[in-house]
Amino acid sequence: MWKFFPNSVYRIKSSLTAINNSQLLSPHCFMKVVAKGNANIVIDYGNPNWLYRCCVRYENSLKCNNDYSLENYQYIKSTVEPLLKGTLCDMELKTISLELLKPVISEYIAQMDDTKVLVIKMPNLKSKDLDKQIYADHYTKIYASNDSRCVLWEFKPKWLHSVTDYCRNCTHSTMKGREMRYCYALLHRDHQHLDKVLAAVTSIPLQCGKELFRYFRDDKNVLATLYEAQMNLSHRKLEEIESVTDVDEELLLAMTLKDVTCFIEWRSDTDRLRVNVVDADLKPKEKFQHWLKTHHQLEAQEIKHYH
Ligand SMILES: [Zn+2]
Repeated sequence: MWKFFPNSVYRIKSSLTAINNSQLLSPHCFMKVVAKGNANIVIDYGNPNWLYRCCVRYENSLKCNNDYSLENYQYIKSTVEPLLKGTLCDMELKTISLELLKPVISEYIAQMDDTKVLVIKMPNLKSKDLDKQIYADHYTKIYASNDSRCVLWEFKPKWLHSVTDYCRNCTHSTMKGREMRYCYALLHRDHQHLDKVLAAVTSIPLQCGKELFRYFRDDKNVLATLYEAQMNLSHRKLEEIESVTDVDEELLLAMTLKDVTCFIEWRSDTDRLRVNVVDADLKPKEKFQHWLKTHHQLEAQEIKHYH
């Protein structure tokens, strides 16, 4: 999940028309980092409807981050998007001058060895009216508007398909000391499990709950899409991998699909839920060491969950 940094505000005095030609913007805008993940920051650049996602994976080289951003964008569009059946969030690769973004990225990237910054422009899925966080745990956040006419559910379903006989999600949660009342792998199999997911959320509007039940009863829901995509991949087992050269493309894709974030938005004035999948990034092959370590830790767990 993202960490939010509401106080990191940077004053940008130059006009932002250079980065958004479609709107007339104030010459004195505020740019700020609104969230930080493991390898990315999300920048609010002054337009409430859009955000920039900027890679900061390589702290010693802006150029390396730019190269990765280009490769990542092409990967998401060509490899991941076709599997997600229209649920991938809109995104566009943009080139921004370093001069404009330097004040916000210099905290994360030490070496400015390029004159431009490649960012992924995405819609701001958490619109301004969703100012109440009505639920949060490690895998799920739910926001609502003050008048309860809009609800946004953000969640990481993680491993919907696994070759282990135990539930990878629940066993991992126990290993991390997180007591989970629900499991997205179970919700995929049984829409009635939604009761458990939403049990601690008291202020979900009745109509929203009904729409969500209807959505997960449909076998074309986003969990079914992700499950199918995860299941259809055949790759080497983690325990067989000894070096980066053993990491195949399907394993990388599987790990991407097991780390996406889903957003489901309900609005009272429409009967259609809006579904968006984000965080569909290309994983570096070097991460196999972390995945393998976690796999061995899970295998050694005394308490495993089966369902
Ligand atoms: Zn489970």
